[in-house]
Amino acid sequence: MKPESSHTQGTIDTSRMSAGQRAALEMTEAARDERRNSGFAASLFFGEPDFGKVLPFPKQKVEDRDQGDAFLRRLRAVLDEHADPDAIDREGEIPDHLMDALARIGAFGIKIPIKYGGLGLSQTNYSRAAMLLGGRCGSLTALISAHQSIGVPQPLLTFGNEAQKEMFLPRCARGEVSAFALTESDVGSDPARMTTRAELAPDGEHYILNGEKLWCTNGTRASLIVVMARTPTKEKPHATTAFVVENDRPGVEVIHRCRFMGLRALYNGVIHFTNVMVPKSHIIGGEGRGLKVALTTLNTGRIALPAACTGLAKRCLEISNRWATSREQWGKPIGKHAAIADKLARMASGTLAMEAVTHYVSALVDADKNADVRLEAAIAKLWCTERAWDIANDTMQIRGGRGYETAESLEARNEPPDPVERLFRDARINTIFEGSSEIMRLFIAREAIDPHLRIGADVVNASLPVADRARAAVRAARFYAVWLPVKYVPRGIEGATSMHPALLPDMRAVEALSRKLARRLFYAMAMHGPSLERKQVLLGRFVDIGCELFVTSCLLGYVSMRSAGSDLSAPDVEQMVHLARYHARHSREKVRRLFHEAATADDDDAVAIAAEI
Ligand SMILES: Cc1cc2nc3c(=O)[nH]c(=O)nc-3n(C[C@H](O)[C@H](O)[C@H](O)COP(=O)(O)OP(=O)(O)OC[C@H]3O[C@@H](n4cnc5c(N)ncnc54)[C@H](O)[C@@H]3O)c2cc1C
Repeated sequence: MKPESSHTQGTIDTSRMSAGQRAALEMTEAARDERRNSGFAASLFFGEPDFGKVLPFPKQKVEDRDQGDAFLRRLRAVLDEHADPDAIDREGEIPDHLMDALARIGAFGIKIPIKYGGLGLSQTNYSRAAMLLGGRCGSLTALISAHQSIGVPQPLLTFGNEAQKEMFLPRCARGEVSAFALTESDVGSDPARMTTRAELAPDGEHYILNGEKLWCTNGTRASLIVVMARTPTKEKPHATTAFVVENDRPGVEVIHRCRFMGLRALYNGVIHFTNVMVPKSHIIGGEGRGLKVALTTLNTGRIALPAACTGLAKRCLEISNRWATSREQWGKPIGKHAAIADKLARMASGTLAMEAVTHYVSALVDADKNADVRLEAAIAKLWCTERAWDIANDTMQIRGGRGYETAESLEARNEPPDPVERLFRDARINTIFEGSSEIMRLFIAREAIDPHLRIGADVVNASLPVADRARAAVRAARFYAVWLPVKYVPRGIEGATSMHPALLPDMRAVEALSRKLARRLFYAMAMHGPSLERKQVLLGRFVDIGCELFVTSCLLGYVSMRSAGSDLSAPDVEQMVHLARYHARHSREKVRRLFHEAATADDDDAVAIAAEI
C-alpha cells in the first residue's frame, strides 16, 4: 500500500527550530532528491518488503564478469610488482612508478566510458577493484576512489554536458588525479555554514572564486578539483554551485598537507582560493545546483567504501583464520577456544554479508545509471564501515600482541609481517568521511519516514492554516485506518522460489520484523510528532533495525543465487548456507535488542547530562 501522490506536500515544520538548525535543514531539504523512494530498503521501513527487488538476487552477466576478471588480473599484477603498502604507509608517499603503472592499465578511468578514453567497466567491476585494493593498501584505495567516486568523473558522468565530458574525462582516464572539495573549517556535516564564495565576474564569462577548503583528499596531487562554493542570489541566499577548478590556475594554492593516524600516504590538503577566475563553462549541473550535485555524487560515490571495507574485512579474516589455526595456547589452536571461534564466526558471516550488500547496491546502479540508490548506498556505507571497524578490532584481538606490532617490526624478528596494525589505523576513518555514521543515520531516518511525512507532516505543521491541517488530518486518518491493521498480517515472499530452501524461514522472519518496524515507527511518530526529529537515539535504533533487515535480506538472496550456480562445490554451498543462517540468527537477536533499546531510549536525559557536563 503506497501513499497517493495527491497527499499533502509533507514539508517539515522548521518554524520552531534555531536559526542554525533551520538553515542546515532547509538547505539539505532543498537539495534532497524529491523522487519517492521506491527501492527495497524503503519498503522494509514501510512494512511492505518488496522482496521481488532482491529475489532472485541480481547476477553479474558472464560477459561483464569476464571483463572485470581481465582488469582485476592486470590490477593484481601491477600491485604485486609495484606496490609495497607497508613502505607506502611508512614513507607517506605513493611512488610515481606505481601511479604510472596504474595509469597504463586504465585504473584512473575504470567507469569512464570507452569513448572518453576510459575502460567503460560496470559499477560491479569497479566495486570488485575497490575490494581488491581495500585488502591491500588503504592510501592507494582512497586515492583511486576519491578520484573516481567523488572527484571529477562521477559528477561529470551524472550532471556534465557533452563539452565538459570531452574536455575533462580523457584527462582523468589518462591518470590526471582529481579531487572533491566540500569541507571547510566550519563546514563538516553542515554545508549551510560554507563560506567559500564565487561571484560572477564583470566579463559575465567567469566566476571569481575565494575561500579555503579543508581535508581535500588528492588535493595536493590533483590537477582538477570539484569545488563547492556559495553563489547566493536574492531569491536563493543559500545557493551553492559546483565548479571544476584547474589546480594550476593563478590563485589556487595548497597551503598545507594534512597527515593522519592512518592512510598515511593520503595526498590530502588545505587548498586556498584567491580571486581564481573559473570559466562559467566549468559549472557542473547548472548554477545554484551545487549541493544537489554533491549529494547525488556522494550517493553513488559512497558505494566504493563498502566495497573497500569488504576487501579489508576479507584480508582480516584471512589473517585471523591463519593465526587461529596455527597458534596454540592452553593445549589447542586458539581458534578452537569458543571465545575466539565466536569472533571468527561473526567475522566470516559479516564479511560475506558485506560482500552481498556491495554486490546488490552495485547491481542496482548497473541496471539503471539513474536508479535512486540513496537509501541502499547509505545503508551499505553505514553498515559496512562500522562492521569493518569491528572486524579490524577483532583481528587485532585475535592476533594478540602481534596485532599491535608493526609489520616492519614483525619482519625484523622473522615473523610473518601481517599488517594488522596498519589495517586497523586505516579502517578507522571510514565511519567518519563521506558522511559520518551519525549523519548517515539522520539521512536514512529522513528517507525512512518520508512516506509518513508525505501523509502526516502537514497535520502537525504549526505554520499552516488550521483548515489545511484539519483536511490533512482527515486524509491521514483515512490512510492509516487501512494501513495499520494490515501491518499485523503476514505477507508472502515474492521470489521465494529462487531461494535456497534452508534460508526461507530466515527471510520470513525478516518479513515479520519489517512489519513490526513499520508499526513501531508509526507509533513513535504518533507519540512524538515533530519532536521525533530531535530523538536521534530512538531514530538511530530504528535505522539500525532497518539496516539489519536490509543486510540480512541481501545476504540470504546472495547465498541463494550463489548456491544455485555452478562455481561452488557442494561443501562450499553448505558452508555458505551455514554462514548465512548464522548471520541471520545473530542479526535477529540484535534486532530484538534494538527494539528493546528503542523502547527505553532516553534522548532527553542524554541531552540533559551532556549539557550538565
Ligand atoms: C582523511 C580525511 C579525508 C577527507 N576527505 C575529504 C574530501 O576529499 N573532500 C571533502 O570535502 N571532505 C573530506 N573530508 C572531510 C570529512 O568528510 C569530514 O571530516 C566529515 O564530513 C565530518 O566533518 P567534521 O570532521 O567537520 O565533523 P563535524 O561535522 O564537526 O562532526 C563532529 C561529530 O559530530 C557529529 N555530528 C555532526 N552533526 C551532527 C548532527 N546534526 N547530529 C548528530 N551528530 C552530528 C558527527 O557525526 C561527528 O561525529 C575528509 C576528512 C578526513 C579526516
